[in-house]
Amino acid sequence: MILLHGKGVSDGIAAGKICFYKAVPQVVVYTKINDVAKELARYEAAKTTAKEQLKQLETQALAKLGKDSAALFATHAMMLDDIDFVTAITEKIKTEQWNAEAAVSDAASALNTVFMALDDAYMRARAADILDITARLVGVLNGEQSRFHTDTPVILAADDLSPSETVQLDNAKILGFVTRGGSENAHTAILARTMGIPAIIGIGDALLEAYDGQNARIDGKNGTLLIAPDAAEQAAYAAAAQEAETQKIALAQLKGLPDCTPDGRTLRLFCNITTPAQAEDVLACDAAGIGLFRTEFLFLAASDYPSEAAQTALYRAVLEKMDKKRVTMRTMDIGADKTAAYFNLPQEANPALGMRGIRLGLTRPQLLLTQLRAIYRASAYGDVAILFPMVASVWEVKELKKLCATARQQLAQEGLAFATNVPLGVMIETPAAALVAEKLAEEADFFSVGTNDLTQYTLAIDRQNDTLSRFYEPHHPAVLRLLAMAAQAAHAHHIPIYICGELASDASLLPYFLKIGITALSVSPRNVLPLRKMLREMKEKTDDTQGNHSN
Ligand code: PEP
Ligand code: MG
Repeated sequence: MILLHGKGVSDGIAAGKICFYKAVPQVVVYTKINDVAKELARYEAAKTTAKEQLKQLETQALAKLGKDSAALFATHAMMLDDIDFVTAITEKIKTEQWNAEAAVSDAASALNTVFMALDDAYMRARAADILDITARLVGVLNGEQSRFHTDTPVILAADDLSPSETVQLDNAKILGFVTRGGSENAHTAILARTMGIPAIIGIGDALLEAYDGQNARIDGKNGTLLIAPDAAEQAAYAAAAQEAETQKIALAQLKGLPDCTPDGRTLRLFCNITTPAQAEDVLACDAAGIGLFRTEFLFLAASDYPSEAAQTALYRAVLEKMDKKRVTMRTMDIGADKTAAYFNLPQEANPALGMRGIRLGLTRPQLLLTQLRAIYRASAYGDVAILFPMVASVWEVKELKKLCATARQQLAQEGLAFATNVPLGVMIETPAAALVAEKLAEEADFFSVGTNDLTQYTLAIDRQNDTLSRFYEPHHPAVLRLLAMAAQAAHAHHIPIYICGELASDASLLPYFLKIGITALSVSPRNVLPLRKMLREMKEKTDDTQGNHSN
């Protein structure tokens, strides 16, 4: 029996086999070959396998993301047969006698240079496709395992996981995460909480690949991973699982009850989601609706920009599933740690301070306009609100509102249905936004405070950097003061104020949230009923509502 410790970032216990996620960097080995015919046959066989993989991906994408996303994989399969690409590869094998991996890599980089030099942004974006199919072909030639795959549910172990890797995991097959590195405030940890699976990060080098395949038990609350538990430990696990089940049943009794204190103060509870499928969890926990739909994860799961039609279908499906309950769609907060190759974002020295959120949307308005049109088209099927991330200035909101007006005008001209009263909200997640909240409240229909970024930017602490985690303090009086300022501005302009950052699920702050007049909290689905319970059992108003956090 081996006991490892890390930082528990998502509560819950689970037992299962450990499976290591191996995201090995791709290496292309250059060698000269003697047998040209054999090498050509290797290349042909790899091409056939790559096409089979693409066919499978096309089928999966069709089911998950719709026709337009699926079409990309068909395009990739066609690109593998592109006559110029094929000729360049086979010539390198025949005349220069390079091995197939080297020939593919060289041919692709020549083609990539040509595409990147073109003026047309669409054609430049195709360079990402070339890199994608090249990585696939080289992967097959190298005999690399494809992305993480498991037939049975496992505890996933990894060095670390990027948000785009995480979102592509089949969450029905993941009992829990354990990672060597990682930061508790980064999106992978948030994703684990949203998905409701136990997770531990920062175990360090003690997490050995040799544990792959071993039975283990994860406790996301205590941050412990028990490998090869003995009989006594297994019995303790069974008892803990039983206790968790009992608690779940007790909490279920609270479904249908209002989110208010015994003395009648209300704090409505909504959910954060990252994928359309999680709408199911929102309904299951009886939340008031979706307070934050991180739509950028749809973009991270795709290999190319999802079309307007594909986005409309997804948003509509969520709205229909939520059946008139509010769905707050945050426009794509791409950038910083949430990037996908096809966005071709420039390398930045400080990505968290760079091209992210609405900055990207206002710099590439067509991208945001497509998303806004899709949200408005879906708005005919439910109760939707739009939320803008990373706002710092009033002029940004004015431009965003103009873009929304353009989307509405276009749809009206095209005779497409949409709701005319979609509320437009601003995230308060930069100190600037909190400081000019009075002015922003004149433009916005509601506020939603992103305490994760508000903490990062107020305290100047990179939320991704695990070595700084003890300095990352969402309870810092500077953060709470900005939160209170935003709340005051919201009240002065009679608009609601939500909190959708992770701080919202901090039960110790419930009295403070009530005191400063927060309208609603948006949290992971599994936090809804425990928070409702605390709210409903809360003592009457006291003045000691900031605990020890005010100094
Ligand atoms: C936040 O910053 O608090 C937030 C909700 O957004 P994200 O964590 O996705 O940046
Ligand atoms: Mg944020």
